[in-house]
Amino acid sequence: MRTAAGERLEVMIEAQQIRGRVEQLGEQITRDYEDKELMLIGILKGSFVFIADLARCIDLPLAVDFMAVSSYGMSTQSSGVVRIIKDLDHSVEGKHVLVVEDIVDTGLTLNYIYGHVRARGAMSVKICTLLDKVSRRQVAVPVHYKGFEIPDDFVVGYGLDVEERYRNLGDVCRVTRT
Ligand code: 5GP
Repeated sequence: MRTAAGERLEVMIEAQQIRGRVEQLGEQITRDYEDKELMLIGILKGSFVFIADLARCIDLPLAVDFMAVSSYGMSTQSSGVVRIIKDLDHSVEGKHVLVVEDIVDTGLTLNYIYGHVRARGAMSVKICTLLDKVSRRQVAVPVHYKGFEIPDDFVVGYGLDVEERYRNLGDVCRVTRT
């Protein structure tokens, strides 16, 4: 893909590898939530590609909702401040909720969302993330399903951006400044 001036992309996880792992996660989730009322909650915007693929790999009559929270904005550093920009449209009461996130870094964002959804009366709340930067964790969050553990590099693609660029990349790529 063409890059913006001064940026270089290096493939970390190829699209084909992501597809295979997402299929495995979908099969596992299908088994775990059989006979349960499942609701996927995607965290916008980064999870939009992952949740679209994952939902189609889950063979259950599930529901989908979205939340948007403040993220890094124009910087690549977490502020530690989480703000809800878009709340859920539907009630989670009595539902088995699976929060679908693109990446867990410090854990601050998911820690907040996890508490928020639990307080809304969900029957159960679990977390599924495509990427996990384990070495960066500041608060412990229970990650029940994960695609890949990655090192402490800033990545883009498959929904993830830098200043809104590269969300449409099929691969997950390391981005560096030249
Ligand atoms: P946390 O609250 O766990 O520190 O951060 C989670 C959020 O930070 C993610 O949802 C994502 O928006 C952003 N983030 C963390 N690491 C990366 C990264 O390597 N690339 C991109 N594009 N966003 C990241």
